[in-house]
Amino acid sequence: NDDQFKKVVSHAKEYGYIFASSEIYDGLSAVYDYAQNGVELKKNIREYWWRSMVYMHQNIVGIDSAILMHPTTWKASGHVDAFNDPLIDNKDSKKRYRADVLIEDYAEKLYQKAQKEIEKAKGRFGDAFDEQEFITTNPRVVKYLEERRTVLERMARSLEKEDLADVKALIEELGIADPETGSKNWTDVRQFNLMFGTKLGASVESAMDLYLRPETAQGIFVNFLNVQKSGRMKIPFGIAQTGKAFRNEIVARQFIFRMREFEQMEMQFFVRPGEELKYYEQWKETRLKWHLSLGMGAENYRFHDHEKLAHYANAATDIEFNFPFGFKELEGIHSRTDFDLKAHEKFSGKKLQFFDPELNESYVPYVVETSIGLDRMFLAVLSNSLQDETLEDGSIRTVLKLPAILAPVKAAVLPLIKRDGLPEIAQQIIDDLQWDYNVIYDEKDAVGRRYRRQDAVGTPFCITVDHQTIEDNTVTIRYRDTMEQERIKIEEISEKMKETISY
Ligand code: ATP
Repeated sequence: NDDQFKKVVSHAKEYGYIFASSEIYDGLSAVYDYAQNGVELKKNIREYWWRSMVYMHQNIVGIDSAILMHPTTWKASGHVDAFNDPLIDNKDSKKRYRADVLIEDYAEKLYQKAQKEIEKAKGRFGDAFDEQEFITTNPRVVKYLEERRTVLERMARSLEKEDLADVKALIEELGIADPETGSKNWTDVRQFNLMFGTKLGASVESAMDLYLRPETAQGIFVNFLNVQKSGRMKIPFGIAQTGKAFRNEIVARQFIFRMREFEQMEMQFFVRPGEELKYYEQWKETRLKWHLSLGMGAENYRFHDHEKLAHYANAATDIEFNFPFGFKELEGIHSRTDFDLKAHEKFSGKKLQFFDPELNESYVPYVVETSIGLDRMFLAVLSNSLQDETLEDGSIRTVLKLPAILAPVKAAVLPLIKRDGLPEIAQQIIDDLQWDYNVIYDEKDAVGRRYRRQDAVGTPFCITVDHQTIEDNTVTIRYRDTMEQERIKIEEISEKMKETISY
């Protein structure tokens, strides 16, 4: 809900996760900076992805291609002609929106209404409740879900046919109002290209028009043969990459959910023509497992299979996550056929084919891709982890229950007081742990307040050095999630941490 979302945004700033870009100049819309803790969380998510995709698959390798690419790339990929979003303005408020997002939000509300009915019935019927039966027979739920499907289908059909007048008609028929002002006075819908242009070269005559890449995928497609040959890769194989992408998004609300400069983590998997749907199903399953492995609750994920497909795809789904503002796309999995490689063959005049020794023939491979926004994943993790807990004494504890493997700081080492040699021992512990973990030292304020601060930052362990440490070489280890404390030997700290934080 709205309150939870506001909390996430202000928590991100207060605890050094995310700042608005160039904030002293009042920021730049939909552009953000990652702060001292944010950069660590982001790096850890990237690494969690990279390890599972590249290191855990012998037939996937990584690359890091340039943000700037030859401009013909974007002709071939279709981005120059078709990377558009339907834009609509409200004549009264002068606010600009994405027409498709307005309609999707409307559809999501119908879904939420249906969910509410289901929850209510669950409460009423208890154990006897048959959800599947209820969804298909309860008139209200049937109506909500039916309308949702009709609305989404009509929108997809109109967008596919570029029938922008019908998109507007749909908005009007549904009575969709400006979410900020309530006005229903809309302009026509028109297309808007999302690519950022720039120039290469100094002189006016010779300068070349370039684009900042709107996706990392094309850097992989154009390198397909280089990687295949130099890595002696055999189909099926994959190429993975993480990196910045840029889109001149029309509406830039929702914090880091939709940014103008963001990072993608993409993997293109090259397969034999005809085998793509088998791999598409496999990657759906593999990617969902990756998400579930973080323990953020299976109920917070759902697949949204696309009924209407982009011209280059023969199957597509989104993994949606339950953000504070509802279920939204977190990751896309697409069976892209041979569209991209064929297009690059056509525009470059180079063959982009694989000789398959088993079939004894050459072909343009088909591609199944998985594409996830790193920043969107960051928001999913952050919003899912932020919790207010009421303790036994009635006080409220704000705690960021990040998956320990992703936490920016793994342990804080705290001398109980600032004298009697305790800081020196704490420092010694830091010197040992910092080879393996990002750990910090903190001696300011009472230890209870230091615990709370680490809870809010999301640090899974606090190690406290006290007078007993001098006598028997033991420390207190405190666990963020349970607040339980245990006395262990200094030599055991690293092992203890490894139990929760290791790949
Ligand atoms: P949307 O429909 O939300 O605009 P999309 O379908 O255009 O997204 P893709 O082109 O499939 O997105 O990009 C793959 C992934 O990249 C998305 O699932 C999302 O996680 C991420 N992504 C796309 N656009 C943005 C953005 N503006 N800011 C942050 N992440 C983004």
